[in-house]
Amino acid sequence: MTSSARSAPASGISPSFKEDALQSVDCGLCGSAESKLKFVDGPFAVVTCAACEVTYVTPRLKDASLIESVYDESYWNSSEAKVHGYSDYRADAPLYKRTYRDRLTILKRHFASNKRPDGTPRRVLDIGCAAGYFLSVMQEEGWEVTGLEPSDAIRIQAERELGPDNVRGSLLGINDDLEEGKFDLVTFWDVIEHIPDPRAALIRARQLLAPGGFLIVETQDVESRAEKILGKKWQHYKHAEHIYHFNKKTLTRLLDEAGFTTLENSGRFGGKYVTFSFVAERVGRIHPFLSVLASPLRLIGKKALYINLFDEMIVVAKPKE
Ligand SMILES: [Zn+2]
Repeated sequence: MTSSARSAPASGISPSFKEDALQSVDCGLCGSAESKLKFVDGPFAVVTCAACEVTYVTPRLKDASLIESVYDESYWNSSEAKVHGYSDYRADAPLYKRTYRDRLTILKRHFASNKRPDGTPRRVLDIGCAAGYFLSVMQEEGWEVTGLEPSDAIRIQAERELGPDNVRGSLLGINDDLEEGKFDLVTFWDVIEHIPDPRAALIRARQLLAPGGFLIVETQDVESRAEKILGKKWQHYKHAEHIYHFNKKTLTRLLDEAGFTTLENSGRFGGKYVTFSFVAERVGRIHPFLSVLASPLRLIGKKALYINLFDEMIVVAKPKE
């Protein structure tokens, strides 16, 4: 892994990138070149497609630069997490696992048992499994787990967490050698907005699902109240990594085109357990003065707090008959 595409961080919202690392793109979902500008931020612009209404970033990092320069060690242990990556993804393991344990409520509505009809364990594939926190919770639940994680920096930890045979470094649909029809559940937690061709990824996910299987996609909602209030300071505007922003309509249509029926779409379990330090840091992104107001929160630092801004969508879908 190298950081060759990244130059010194800018003081604003976006880390700065060398211009030759960027590419201008048309809409990745419908191909239209017509778009309406939402706002410009450094070298990036956030636009909404005039034809299909999906929101996307252009110019954005070249596809080849994405994995190489965005998801290196600094993504998982970032000194500028407000604009890039996570402040300390590994130290927050208990918080992530607690968040996923809450989300099991969604799963248990669709899977009465952790066993398949033949008595063998159910199988889950997590795309972009990072350190394997969701799959670790699923292992506790008795499921057989497989994770795909292209970032070398974090995959090592997933291998430790889940067992080396359960994690692969391949990219979905590009060089994966997964068995079609094998999985009862395929999940994309905060991942689909990072993928240059999300439709192809979902079509591949559909091939991998067993009859009766389900898909879960979590992504941020660009039409949420939080986005309307915060505008370009919305925490999900991280232009190097979040290259798409969906709303209920564009996400439902994308799933439909990839061969899925949406069963539910809710922000009810879209919250996360975070530390008070995290809250203090994020409000500093909105205004430096709020950071001063929130600074006493740093004293209670590691204590967990559940926050749901209802700006995430969690979709459960199944392949069309
Ligand atoms: Zn479009």
